[in-house]
Amino acid sequence: MKIIVLLKQVPDTNQVKIDPKTGTLIRQGVPSIINPDDKFALEEGIRVKEQFGGTVTILSMGPPQAKDAIMEGLAMGADEGVLLSDRMFAGADTWATSYSLAQALKKIGDYDIIFAGRQATDGDTAQIGPQTAEALDIPQITYVFDVKVKEDGRTMVVKKAMEDGYEVLEVPMPALLTCIKDLNDPRYPSISGIQRAVESTIPVWSAADVGADPEKIGLKGSPTMVAKTFTPEPACRGDCISGPCDDMVTQLINKLHEINILKE
Ligand code: FAD
Repeated sequence: MKIIVLLKQVPDTNQVKIDPKTGTLIRQGVPSIINPDDKFALEEGIRVKEQFGGTVTILSMGPPQAKDAIMEGLAMGADEGVLLSDRMFAGADTWATSYSLAQALKKIGDYDIIFAGRQATDGDTAQIGPQTAEALDIPQITYVFDVKVKEDGRTMVVKKAMEDGYEVLEVPMPALLTCIKDLNDPRYPSISGIQRAVESTIPVWSAADVGADPEKIGLKGSPTMVAKTFTPEPACRGDCISGPCDDMVTQLINKLHEINILKE
């Protein structure tokens, strides 16, 4: 089975800061990590491989330092990684990113399952998974928290989280699934995995390597126009209760009575 995991390197912070002049994310001085949702995607890919055999390939688009995230994924148990990196990809919005990833996936070819995270903690759009599946013209299921590949190795039964419950869906392969945290507990890198990762070579593919149309990538291929970015003010400021614990409980109960949340 050929399993692909889309993995993004993101800043290690939930305090994403925006440059007020350029409207872009400030990435300098912030350490990077694997996007948290992508670890669930990778763990599931490794588990399916352990059950059915085959390979897990990590695909990431980003600057040269995104290799570190791929290395960590290899140490967790992926077999190989590919970095899609080229100055021509710079300024890509989600549309151009999905097209670029899809081009690389076409080059990899013959995949059975593509696992992606539900959402990246920096861009936060949750658009890449669905758009990549569309670009490849394959089925997609989002918000996945349970995956069973059937004995035939050609069909999956997948549970998809909904606001008020979940759906059980059967999907033919190849298909793309976006994963949420309830799917599994990602493993830690092993010592032998770290050694294998350090010794491995990660190929870097350029736009030309994946046959990407220069008009459809980077800033040129990005229809998104960011008019303004800002941090919204909290709708209400909230009250802070202080004092000894018993007093705080009494104050809280009184307050909840005052605003009619608690009734006598
Ligand atoms: P989501 O859609 O939230 O991610 C979902 C999942 O898709 C992830 O969990 C992961 O599995 C997969 N995924 C997402 N991105 C990647 C990736 N790159 N490689 C592999 N898998 C991935 N970003 C830059 O780094 N440099 C720029 O110059 C830049 N310019 C931009 C310009 C504009 C106008 C806009 C709107 C955005 C720009 N971005 C840039 C942000 C970039 O478009 C997004 O980070 C990227 O498209 C992914 O979107 P997201 O973070 O919302 O991912």
